[in-house]
Amino acid sequence: MVEHDRELARASDLPSLDRLLGMPEFQALLAEFGRTQVTAALRGDLDECRAAALAGALAREAVTSAAFAGRVSQSLAARNRSALRPVFNLTGTVLHTNLGRALLPDSALEAVMQALTSPANLEFDLATGGRGDRDDLIAPLLCELTGGEAATVVNNNAAAVLLMLATLAKRREVVVSRGELVEIGGAFRIPDIMTHAGAKLVEVGTTNRTHAADYRDAIGEKTALLMKVHCSNYEVTGFTKSVSVAEVVQIAKPHGVPVAVDLGSGTLAPLERWGLPHETTVQETIAAGADLVTFSGDKLLGGPQAGMIVGRKALIAKIKRHPLKRALRVGKLTLAALEPVLRLYRDPEHLPERLTTLRLLTRSRAEMAAQAERLAPVLAKALGEAYTVAPAPMVSQIGSGALPVEQLPSYGLAIAPAGGGKRGGGRALAKLEAALRALPYPVIGRIADQTLWLDLRCLAPDNEARLALQFAELRA
Ligand SMILES: *Cc1c(COP(=O)(O)O)cnc(C)c1O
Repeated sequence: MVEHDRELARASDLPSLDRLLGMPEFQALLAEFGRTQVTAALRGDLDECRAAALAGALAREAVTSAAFAGRVSQSLAARNRSALRPVFNLTGTVLHTNLGRALLPDSALEAVMQALTSPANLEFDLATGGRGDRDDLIAPLLCELTGGEAATVVNNNAAAVLLMLATLAKRREVVVSRGELVEIGGAFRIPDIMTHAGAKLVEVGTTNRTHAADYRDAIGEKTALLMKVHCSNYEVTGFTKSVSVAEVVQIAKPHGVPVAVDLGSGTLAPLERWGLPHETTVQETIAAGADLVTFSGDKLLGGPQAGMIVGRKALIAKIKRHPLKRALRVGKLTLAALEPVLRLYRDPEHLPERLTTLRLLTRSRAEMAAQAERLAPVLAKALGEAYTVAPAPMVSQIGSGALPVEQLPSYGLAIAPAGGGKRGGGRALAKLEAALRALPYPVIGRIADQTLWLDLRCLAPDNEARLALQFAELRA
């Protein structure tokens, strides 16, 4: 008992705050975090130590100046860690909305750095010295790539749809097929957007079949738009019929009613060229006669979060004059990032190397399999006997509503509880999934069929060593 007490500290053993702050161990902390933060953290720590000492539970080695500095350093580092943190996206969903969708190419990064640190001609006409329009920085490029007459950019595609409807269909009717009344994750629903834009939705056809006559019969004096919406995250199969954009345009034309298409993902490149399934491009939609097309910047396009509206000059001009346009406009960082991404599309030959999204979507299975072979032993060693780790083929998804039913052959690691995942197997997997998420550089996988899948499609080659390090950390 006496021996034991000697290892305990008493409250009277605690050094004063000022004395600790003067110790050499605290000088680096003061330089990094400043006196206010270090003092507050140290005061909190001393209070805890005092309480522990009074309870007879404070070890002597906890009251050295190095021990105080160590705890204060940890608490300040945790407090000052970014809330927005990089993670490994091993979910198999390339455009994962909750993980930030498209990753941007270096050219966009450089442009954003420039825009962050230097004044720029955001709304300044360098030719006249007068006021400029931020849309003019990007609209010519969008028109060139899509064949549209004019273009405007807003915060995201939801904003693009809202602005378009608020401008052109307030207190008027918009005709949409019942098969296209989509809900995108995060509470974006076509009927709700209509309501908030002040437009009246006129549903036509049925869930599985809509005919040309359905659109024709719905047109009346109050019709503002015929609208087509891309079925981004589902597919209607079986006994189905829908009316193409070109046909809807033919129906609308005699009545002078414009046709709007919400393309959702809206790619600018023919994906089949790289062995991917075809996704309707913006160019095709404009060529089919659509008067307005809206699409996202950070889905298949591979750029920053933004919403594009491309189409007829007169309609775009009207949209740009709506007061909501000012509320929904994009910032300079978005425009800075968007421009170099769009420019990549002028050179389709280099697109799979230079556009990060396309590079991920077209990665060879052999390359991913080689990564899996290298990483499997590292993870197996970290996990020990409790789990089995095997390189395994799997299927990735594009994500963000692009081509919901098409899947991409991929490769990664399949982790199962040892013993075939019988009793307690589900809990063991959930525990491992949580441990991976709790790593300093969190690793996000996906559990299905009593297996934890780590899909390596989105693991950049220069990030592989870092992932191996995280796996090794799991042991601790
Ligand atoms: C994704 C999507 C939207 C919403 O786009 P955001 O850029 O996420 O705002 C709207 N409509 C369709 C059809 C979509 O696929």
